[in-house]
Amino acid sequence: MTQRLYYHDSFLYEFEAELVEILSVDSRTVLVLDRTAFYPTSGGQAFDTGWLWADSPAESERLRVVEVTEDDQGRILHFVSERPRFGPGTHVHGLIERERRRDHMQQHSGQHVLSAAFVRLFNLPTVSFHMGVQSSSIDLDANNLSEEQVRDAESLANDVVLENRRVDIRFVTQQEARGLGMRKIPTVEHGRLRLIDIHDFDLTGCGGTHVASTGQIGGILLRKLEKVRQAWRVEFVCGKRAVVTARRDYTALVESSALCSSHIWELPQQIRRLQEDARSARKANAMLVEEVADSWASRLLAEAPPREAALLIVRLFPDRDLGFVKLLAQRLIRQTPRVIALLGTTQDQPSLVFAQSAGQPFDMGALMKEALSRLGGRGGGSKEMAQGGPVRIEELESVLMEIAARLGGDTPGQENRLVPTQGT
Ligand SMILES: [Zn+2]
Repeated sequence: MTQRLYYHDSFLYEFEAELVEILSVDSRTVLVLDRTAFYPTSGGQAFDTGWLWADSPAESERLRVVEVTEDDQGRILHFVSERPRFGPGTHVHGLIERERRRDHMQQHSGQHVLSAAFVRLFNLPTVSFHMGVQSSSIDLDANNLSEEQVRDAESLANDVVLENRRVDIRFVTQQEARGLGMRKIPTVEHGRLRLIDIHDFDLTGCGGTHVASTGQIGGILLRKLEKVRQAWRVEFVCGKRAVVTARRDYTALVESSALCSSHIWELPQQIRRLQEDARSARKANAMLVEEVADSWASRLLAEAPPREAALLIVRLFPDRDLGFVKLLAQRLIRQTPRVIALLGTTQDQPSLVFAQSAGQPFDMGALMKEALSRLGGRGGGSKEMAQGGPVRIEELESVLMEIAARLGGDTPGQENRLVPTQGT
């Protein structure tokens, strides 16, 4: 079992130890020491990183500690970036990466303060804690959680930070622990329980690294709320992370407010206005498209060569979308009881729409399948109306002409020819 120096001092960044063994775990090199200040991932807190190196100048290369875990025998496993040139029995130095440790202490102590605040104010216990790379979260055993409760807990937590209360590490026996009214079941070391004591505010069992006084946590900023299964997840950032996050939020807000030409506090109002404008514009556009479709329908019907059988209209639009072509097909077959329309668009996503007035004898679905068997792509539809997305558009015009010739008995006249390239 490795002796855990961080249990007694979270600010111990440098230490000396003896290398006990070198293991290979998943083909990675792992060093086990007799004692360590490196924190292994556990209890929601992430591992420390840092360096290990041997005493003798000849072997003074620094090994990077990239991950730290613990195994079920109580050994702390230091994953290092390369195999050391020294062996078991060597006297080694360890150095913890300070900024990362300090950040983890801020998040973890901040979590204790926050969890205690939710218990004090609303009797909502924390059921789990997760420390992420950018933010951390606690899951509260709660059916409901309001924005107001979150603001109150945040406010109390920050008061406790400002009061700069002492944070002590205490070891007690099981029996002593029973009378202490603790928030959480504690961690056991050599039969004793390790407690984190935030003076007159929170006492809880924990194996993590913590600040010495609450002022070192810095600000506690609550962010996203999310319902997860039986709990409410509260995302938060503490200390320097709170500053970094607030800076990032502010940058995004300033960029957005410049786009909207408004103050950042007026953004919601401004965005609602823009959404309304966009809705009105979509509505106006839809009306215009309908008017254009109506006018095209009238024009195509007027230009269609008179025939004994149903009027045959064949047309490709290079600058209209599928929505327009479908609308036009519907207008055409509704405006006259005897019309067959073979329409298409050669825009970004080429599409075909075949339609005939009710009672006409052909099968548009079958015709579409036939066209697509030659043009590639997928599609289909009913006897009255069908649509598809052809792939080989260079053959589109000739295939449409052939189908038109077959339906009408002759090819479409000059006035009713396809318009494959120019604007309409
Ligand atoms: Zn803890």
